[in-house]
Amino acid sequence: MFSSARSCERKARASATALRWIYSLPLLRGVQGVRKVKNPTTRERTKGTMSELRELFLDELADIYNAEGQLLKALPKMAKAAQTDSLREAFEMHAQETEQQIERLKQVFEIFGKPAKGKTCEAMKGLIEEGQSMMKEFKGSAALDAALISAAQKVEHYEIATYGCLCTWAELLEENEALDLLKETMEEEETTDEKLTDLAEECINEEALGGGEEEEEEEEEAPQARGKAKTPARR
Ligand code: FE
Ligand code: FE
Ligand code: FE
Repeated sequence: MFSSARSCERKARASATALRWIYSLPLLRGVQGVRKVKNPTTRERTKGTMSELRELFLDELADIYNAEGQLLKALPKMAKAAQTDSLREAFEMHAQETEQQIERLKQVFEIFGKPAKGKTCEAMKGLIEEGQSMMKEFKGSAALDAALISAAQKVEHYEIATYGCLCTWAELLEENEALDLLKETMEEEETTDEKLTDLAEECINEEALGGGEEEEEEEEEAPQARGKAKTPARR
């Protein structure tokens, strides 16, 4: 037993030495070095034709233009699913604002002398898909509206982050007309986010909490239903 353990130890030491030797080879060091080098052609391509920040701005603009389009389709579905009138109205109002926001983005493209063209925003796609699956999961639950608010606030925060960057870049690029348009939209997104927080705090979270208590009482009366009720705390 003892000599076998010693033999294993010797083998492990030999493997470690072999690995150190392999990684010391110039060929492998070279390969790792190549990975760290930034693609020089990308930098050369933009230099002298359009500033890199301008290119980044237009890339982000295309992303949010597509994201707003996706949201415009999703908001009526969220309004339809909402159980509380005030939440449904908030979604309907934000759908109207989103239409205006898309018009403002078209104006920004025009200021930059570019056609309004979107680029699929994978983040918005994911946020909307997640929201839709929550809508399915909580259908008929007292916590549905709280789930809708959570999904909508994730979207608003994504938009606020994007418009925040666009505003900063527009300012740096000295595009004041574009900056004013983007600022107006960012303020709408912030107001929507605050309104959703107010709705959650005023009544919707309480309703979700109340719904959970009722379910617990029902479960005591009907033990066979245990495990079927869904409340956020159980997820
Ligand atoms: Fe928006
Ligand atoms: Fe995006
Ligand atoms: Fe929004």
